[in-house]
Amino acid sequence: MIKIAVPNKGRLSEESIRLLRSIGLKIALEERSLFLETPKYSIIFVRAQDIPGFVEEGVADIGITGLDLVLETGKKVKKLLELNFGYCRLAIAVPEKSKILAVEDIPNNAKVATSFPNLTKEYFRKIGKKIDIVEVSGTAEIAPHLGVAELITDLVETGATLKTNYLREIGTITESKAVAIANEKALELEEKKRKINELVAALASVINATGRRYLMANVPKEALEDVKSLIPGISGPTVMSIIGSEKIVAVHAVVNEEEINGVIAVLKKLGATGILIVPIERAVL
Ligand code: AMP
Repeated sequence: MIKIAVPNKGRLSEESIRLLRSIGLKIALEERSLFLETPKYSIIFVRAQDIPGFVEEGVADIGITGLDLVLETGKKVKKLLELNFGYCRLAIAVPEKSKILAVEDIPNNAKVATSFPNLTKEYFRKIGKKIDIVEVSGTAEIAPHLGVAELITDLVETGATLKTNYLREIGTITESKAVAIANEKALELEEKKRKINELVAALASVINATGRRYLMANVPKEALEDVKSLIPGISGPTVMSIIGSEKIVAVHAVVNEEEINGVIAVLKKLGATGILIVPIERAVL
């Protein structure tokens, strides 16, 4: 059986469970479940930070966690797939009143508070700046105000937390999002590799379908070229003839959710009728 490690709480937990449910896994969670078994998979719920290590050691064959944590821990795992949630960046920030306006202004031996010491050290080493790390386990934002550091590096999504804490962003060390990772040895075993690939293909198909809808419309043949440029589709829209109708064809295409209203308006202008928009559960591209 394939063992999957999933964050048990925090920002990545809910979305990870939602994604696994969307590929058909029956996850009925009790408040404090630490593991459960479905017919094909065994799932363990652990801290996002521990997942790269568990996957490297083979405690789990597959894990869902943040790319930042994979990079920070430096664990040797195979990155299988980027997921469509958990977007954030490891940013460099200074107090609003600081004289440091850009990364170049950071003086040598500046104190940097962070819970990402490895990524932070590596970044400053690469740009040739000596800094002193003040390691904190969370809430680095307070450190400059306590006088224990001149700047911080921390995960940022919108920047609102930095602003609330009177900090100004001056640079980015790395971008991050949720990823699916696998144990390297598991990928060398035929049977496991097949099952892992099957799971990843299913996850990818759900991600591909996210934000997309299937559009069907009956379109006058003479408007076909305009329709084709309006809805390019994945590999051009599918055009089908309608029995008994010389002048009208059926057009099917995958359309981005946010473009649908505009597309409908133009299709109507071009004389389209019978416009249907249906959800897509999976898209294998
Ligand atoms: P947790 O501490 O359990 O909430 O999980 C933290 C992980 O969630 C981070 O390591 C990132 O991979 C991810 N994440 C996504 N967006 C953010 C954010 N805005 N702030 C912190 N962590 C984030």
